[in-house]
Amino acid sequence: MSQNTTSSIYSDASVSDHSQSTATDVDYEEIHVPVLVIGAGAAGARVAIELREQGIEPLVIGKREYGDAHTTWAAGGINASLGSRDPEDSWAIHAADTLEEGHFINDPEAVELVAREMGDRIRELDEWGMNFARTVDGKIQQRYFGAQSFRRTCFVGDRTGEAMLETLVEKAQSLEIPYRENVMITRLLSDGDRVEGAVGFDMETGEFLAFVTDHVVLAAGGSSAMYNRHSSRDEENNGDGPALALDAGAELLDMEFVQFHPTGMVGDRYGEEWDGRLVTEAVRGEGGRLYNSEGERFMERYSPDQMELDARDVVARAIAQELREGRGTDNGGVYLDISHRDDAYIRERLPSMVDRFASLGVDITTDPMEVAPTAHYTMGGVDIDPHTGETGVEGLYAVGETTAGVHGANRLGGNSLAETVAIAKPVGQHIAAAVQSTGVATDGGSGAVTETDSELSLRMRAAAEREFAALTRLEAADGGTTPEALLDELGELLWSHAGIIRTGEELQAGLDELAALRARLDDLTVEGDRTSRSFELAVDLGFSLTVAEATLRGALERTESRGAHYRADCPELVDEFQQNIVVSDGEDGLRLRKRSVGHPSEPIQAALDAHYELDYHHLE
Ligand SMILES: Cc1cc2nc3c(=O)[nH]c(=O)nc-3n(C[C@H](O)[C@H](O)[C@H](O)COP(=O)(O)OP(=O)(O)OC[C@H]3O[C@@H](n4cnc5c(N)ncnc54)[C@H](O)[C@@H]3O)c2cc1C
Repeated sequence: MSQNTTSSIYSDASVSDHSQSTATDVDYEEIHVPVLVIGAGAAGARVAIELREQGIEPLVIGKREYGDAHTTWAAGGINASLGSRDPEDSWAIHAADTLEEGHFINDPEAVELVAREMGDRIRELDEWGMNFARTVDGKIQQRYFGAQSFRRTCFVGDRTGEAMLETLVEKAQSLEIPYRENVMITRLLSDGDRVEGAVGFDMETGEFLAFVTDHVVLAAGGSSAMYNRHSSRDEENNGDGPALALDAGAELLDMEFVQFHPTGMVGDRYGEEWDGRLVTEAVRGEGGRLYNSEGERFMERYSPDQMELDARDVVARAIAQELREGRGTDNGGVYLDISHRDDAYIRERLPSMVDRFASLGVDITTDPMEVAPTAHYTMGGVDIDPHTGETGVEGLYAVGETTAGVHGANRLGGNSLAETVAIAKPVGQHIAAAVQSTGVATDGGSGAVTETDSELSLRMRAAAEREFAALTRLEAADGGTTPEALLDELGELLWSHAGIIRTGEELQAGLDELAALRARLDDLTVEGDRTSRSFELAVDLGFSLTVAEATLRGALERTESRGAHYRADCPELVDEFQQNIVVSDGEDGLRLRKRSVGHPSEPIQAALDAHYELDYHHLE
C-alpha cells in the first residue's frame, strides 16, 4: 500500500495513513470514463487510437493543447528494419544493436516486441499520411543513426516527431476520440493495489477534476528536464509520470540511467535560451564531424572505427573529456561540422537545423556549430510488462518515455519514437479486452464503450478531497522562495552530482543537498492562483524531487560503469551488476532492490553472435 513518502510537497493524500474523513467545502467536477489516458504525445495518442479501434472510447488528457506535446520536438527519425537501403538488416539485428548498446540490462522481451512490430507500425503511419522521405525508387528512405549496424532510421527531414504527432492526432480526431486539454493530474487514486482514477485541475479555469475509472494509462513523458542543461521543452519531462506511478504503488526501474546527448547548443555562443537545445543526431548521421579547438577530429582517439557515429554515451563522454582537458572552444563547446557535404543535400536533409542556425546568423552549410553534451532522455521509468503495459497496480498501465525496459543503459537514437507506437498497440489491445470483460455502458450510435459504471469508494473520495484541500493550501503558500528558484537549484544539483561523470562521494553529497533543499519547501511561495505558471511549477517540483532522489539513489547503488552511467570511482563494467535496480516507495522512504534480467530469444542471440557493427570508414 502506498505510503506517499516522497511525491507530494504539499500534502499527504495517501489512502493508508488517513481515516475515511473527507475534507469539507471542496468543489470539483467528477468525470466517469472507461479509460483515462494521461498524456497526448505519440504514446498516449497511439494507445487511444488502438482502444477506439477496439470499441472503447477513452478520454485523453494533456497539460497542453491537442497536438502540442513534447513528441513534436523529436527530430531525426524513427527506427524500423525496413531494409530500404541495407537489405541485410532484420528485426533481429535491430534488437541485437539495441541490447548491445543498452549494455544488456534492457528487457529482451520489450526489445524484441519493438523490433518486430516496427515494420508494420511505420507502414501504418505511412498509410495514415505521415510523409516520410523517400528513395528514388519510392521506398521509405533510411539514414544512419549512432551505433546502428545498418541504415534503419526513417525520417521526415529533421521534424519527424512533429510529423508523427500530426499524423496520430489527425487519426485520433477522425475517430472522434475525446481530448481534454490543459489538464494537470496531480495524483492517482490508488490504494497501492488497485487504481480508481486520478485527480487534478484545469490549468485554464483552476477547476478541480476527479476522473473516475478502473483503467488509467500513464503516457506522461520522462524527466530529463530536471537537469539545468537539457534538450526538452522547459515545461515537459519534469518526472510527472514516474512520480505519479511510484506514489500510486507502482515500481520504477533503472532511474540512474539518464542519457546525455553529445550535441546540445552552447548557450555562451547562441544565447541562454538556446543552451542545451538539441542539434539532432541526424547531423552526425548525415556525416557531421566533431573537432576540438585544436582542429583535431578527436573521435579518432576515442572510437577509431565508429567515430562520430558511436553510441551517445561514448561521444558525450569524449566531448566532456575534451572540455575537461582544455581543448574546448572559448564558449565551452566543440565544433560540429557538416559543411563538407553539398549545400542542397544539407538543406534537404536538415532543414530545421539550417533555419534555426540561420536565425542566429550561422550558415551551417559553410560553418561549424558549437556543441556540448545536454541531458536528453531518461532510460529509467515505470516498470511495466511490455505486452500489456501493466504496472503491478491493478488497472494502472504505462507506455512511452515514462516507462523503462526497452533502452537499458543507453538508448539508441530513433528507438524512443519507435517504442511509443510499438508498445502502445498491444497495450491498447490488452486494456480494451480488460474493459470489455467488465460491465460497461455503450453509446447506442457508435456502439463504442463510452462510460464506466465505477464509483469512487469512500476511501478514494476522501483521498481526492484531501488532495484538493492540499492544492488549495499550496496555492496560498506565501513564503520567500519560488518554485522556479528551487527547480533551478535542483537542476544545478543534478548536473553537478549526477551528470555525465559521477562518483560515490558526489552522489552522496547530492543526496545531502537534496535533503537540505526539501527542508526549504516550508518557505515556498506561489505567485498567482491555480492557473499560474508558478502553481504548475510548484506541483512539478514535487514530482521532480521524487524522481531526482530515485536517480541519485540508483546511481549511488550502481557501483560500476555501464552505458550512460559512468562512475569515475568504479570505471569498469561489473558482470554481477547486469541487473535492474527496482525502486519502490516504502514506509520509510524509497526502497531499492536488484532484479535479474531475462535472456534474449534465439534469433536475437544469433544476431548478437554474428557481431554486426557499422564501420564508419566505409561511409567516407
Ligand atoms: C530535442 C529532442 C529530440 C528528440 N528526437 C528524437 C528522435 O529523433 N527520435 C526518437 O526516437 N526520439 C527522439 N526524442 C525522444 C522522443 O521525443 C520522446 O521519447 C517521445 O516523444 C516521448 O513520447 P511520449 O508520448 O512518451 O511523451 P511526450 O511526447 O513527452 O508526451 C507526454 C504527454 O503527457 C502529458 N503530461 C505530462 N505530465 C502530465 C500531468 N501531470 N498531467 C497531465 N498530462 C501530463 C503532456 O502534456 C504530454 O501530452 C527526442 C527528444 C528530444 C528532447
